Amino acid sequence: MIPMVNLKGQYHAIKEEIDSALLAALEATQFILGPNVRAFEEEAAAYLGVKHAVGCASGTDALHLGLIAAGVKEGDEVITTPFTFIATAEAILYVGARPVFVDIDPRTFNIDPEQVAAAITEKTKAIIPVHLFGQPADMSALQALATQHDLKIVEDCAQSFGADIDGKQTGSIGEVGAFSFFPSKNLGCFGDGGLITTNDEKIAEHLRVLRNHGSWKQYHHSELGFNSRLDELQAVILRAKLKRIDQYNAGRRRVGHRYSAALADMGITPPHEDGIGKHVYHQYALLTDRRDDIMAALRAKEIGCAVYYPIPLHQQQVFAESCKGQTLPVTESVAARVMSLPIFPELADEQVDEILAVIRGVVLG
Ligand SMILES: *Cc1c(COP(=O)(O)O)cnc(C)c1O
Repeated sequence: MIPMVNLKGQYHAIKEEIDSALLAALEATQFILGPNVRAFEEEAAAYLGVKHAVGCASGTDALHLGLIAAGVKEGDEVITTPFTFIATAEAILYVGARPVFVDIDPRTFNIDPEQVAAAITEKTKAIIPVHLFGQPADMSALQALATQHDLKIVEDCAQSFGADIDGKQTGSIGEVGAFSFFPSKNLGCFGDGGLITTNDEKIAEHLRVLRNHGSWKQYHHSELGFNSRLDELQAVILRAKLKRIDQYNAGRRRVGHRYSAALADMGITPPHEDGIGKHVYHQYALLTDRRDDIMAALRAKEIGCAVYYPIPLHQQQVFAESCKGQTLPVTESVAARVMSLPIFPELADEQVDEILAVIRGVVLG
């Protein structure tokens, strides 16, 4: 049996450190915006190379509050990718704006800057690129568009903690970066958690008010806010794992490269590492016309596999009206052929080889 993710291995490797730090936090009883949240925000900002990092309750909230702080309002249009998790688009709807889905690059699965350029209107206020599966989006092309048309960029970094472009971390490039610490993410906590990054002091101040009931001082509420704070106990776990994030991502890259070296000879298209930035393999997503056969063979051997994402957002029922009749051929072709293999830092080379042997049996057998 090989699962898609194995959270136990990572916990057990640092169990003593996490358990004792958690017990200390329980004794300290500073559960809301306590010392570990503050320390984690500083440590994460230093790692990511940003001036400010503000913890919040989830990646979805990070996108939502990030859009508000970036000034996106009712009636605005926000250009994004249809090939992502639903939360990217939910956040746009939460602020009353309209998601405009444009097609993706068939090699990187990330938003295609030329398609973005063609979709810009008078109403366009922002772009949300997603660094999908851990591969950085083409930020320099998007930044050029943002500068030319006076648009904000909110980076969806839920899958890309630790990925960089020429040494610049994802989440440090746009106006705002939004991270998720959902347990299976590259940096995951033991529940829900999120982080918003920015180099703009005003945006950071606004985010701290927004996440805490619109309050800049206890019982003084300047605007409608939210209860969206990063939990103190989750911050304890994140601090322990942040110290090891480079090691975790190196483990993911080892697995990814081992898969790719073997799959290229089997008529399967491995993920494209095109030099835009460092891929941190949140998912290992390949393209194949034999998806059903390969998945059936893997399942028969109790090996995990999954399709991220089978239904692009413009074809989701929730957008049935707003996206009626829209076709995005590259996205649709990728969604029909994409599949993901197990990947996590602790996955052993022998297990990768076992998985590859099953796939080889299908495509060459
Ligand atoms: C996980 C994820 C989110 C949402 O994060 P949560 O912490 O689960 O709210 C947003 N965008 C993408 C691309 C994700 O993968």
